[in-house]
Amino acid sequence: MFRRILVANRGEIALRVIRAAHELGVETVAVYSKGDEGAPYLDLADEAICIGPAASALSYLDIPRIIAAAEVGDVEAIHPGYGFLAENAHFAEVCRSCNVTFIGPPAEVIANCGDKARAKELARSAGVPVVPGSEGTVDNVEEATRIAAEIGYPVIVKAVSGGGGRGMRVAHNEVSLRSGFSSAQAEAAAAFNDGTVYVEKFVENPRHIEVQILAGADGEVVHLGERDCSVQRRHQKLIEEAPSPALDDDTRARIGAAAVAFAKAADYRNAGTVEFLLDKNGDFYFIELNARIQVEHPVTEMVSGIDLVQWQLRIASGEPLDFGQDDVQLSGHAIEFRINAEDPERNFAPAPGRIEVLALPGGRGVRVDSHVIAGYEIPRFYDSMIAKVIVYGKDREEALRIARRALREIRVEGPGLATTTGLHLRILGQAEFVNGAADTSFLERYLES
Ligand code: ADP
Repeated sequence: MFRRILVANRGEIALRVIRAAHELGVETVAVYSKGDEGAPYLDLADEAICIGPAASALSYLDIPRIIAAAEVGDVEAIHPGYGFLAENAHFAEVCRSCNVTFIGPPAEVIANCGDKARAKELARSAGVPVVPGSEGTVDNVEEATRIAAEIGYPVIVKAVSGGGGRGMRVAHNEVSLRSGFSSAQAEAAAAFNDGTVYVEKFVENPRHIEVQILAGADGEVVHLGERDCSVQRRHQKLIEEAPSPALDDDTRARIGAAAVAFAKAADYRNAGTVEFLLDKNGDFYFIELNARIQVEHPVTEMVSGIDLVQWQLRIASGEPLDFGQDDVQLSGHAIEFRINAEDPERNFAPAPGRIEVLALPGGRGVRVDSHVIAGYEIPRFYDSMIAKVIVYGKDREEALRIARRALREIRVEGPGLATTTGLHLRILGQAEFVNGAADTSFLERYLES
């Protein structure tokens, strides 16, 4: 195991990694920008190094500065968290050339999976069903309309380097495809510095089902069941749960096997998530692999009893898994609620500020992953997520009951502050969600009503 690692991230995921490392007896070096100076979680690391100004491009995304901090901090490995440099193949490569272990898959694997069009090809070759669409990338709108005519509308234009729901446009006819194609390209170019797109069938009202996998240092792969992340706004997840209320045992077994087949074909290592869409007929289609730890990983930890971040460190340090697929026992039901400093009443505008009063929930069946404390000023430069509330019950009904009482305990107050807590409570009163029937269109339909 490593003696000392650097955490190249901020906020709740930086704290999550620090906790996992300390439980393994590994020392931690945190990095922070001027925008995060004085953040309370930094005190929990063994050392904290300032890497630059608040702007991410000059700090958390600046590879030379991170590598310099790794030198100064005298670490053996770097955990990238999620976002920022987590799926940056070049960063993984630079780590390798600097003799620092990147805690994640090898650079080549990240590159193959990070390009969504290439990942789809890989899935096809592994016999994993994919959403019908273009073979590879689509260079111009004429090609896009030709493909759309073949597969039929509606279609979706997606950025090959996409993430966070950006660089996507749905088109119900040729006119909207012609405008959507160029706006998807432009948004992707601005967000990912890569305007390359591809086209696929838009699956109507699907469920978003993803499978957590772990691949040991020897390449052995297991899956830890699925998460249902269908409650989304603008293709971004807000509530995630495990297991999915939409799967029967047969589909569950097949989707797990498909995820493992894909991971093996990709020669995957470390923790990853294979994402699928499940349509109304119960058929599922691969959409992408996320080569990192995900925001919603705690729900899988709750139902599996396996610490995914500790396993990331163990695998990166060269360990094979010490359990096989048959040893994985999933039990109970877990649901995660993202508490974002956003105002649902004002079209989810960021609502950061100084937290003057703070109460986070606790009690039986409640886990809170958060880096904030009373007096903390939420910086306006970064992601607005301030806490994840994860509830666990013996079944979904109990988890929902615990969720209602836990979310009511939350108080986050201060001038200008607003959060998504009230919205979660309203969703918990919606029959469609309570009955386990929410698909990816549920939240937007509800918000419009
Ligand atoms: P990102 O990497 O930006 O999160 P994904 O490919 O994971 O993008 O897709 C995010 C969400 O967008 C999915 O959960 C789903 O709601 C929607 N989506 C993506 N592709 C399709 C599709 N072909 N049909 C319908 N919805 C889609």
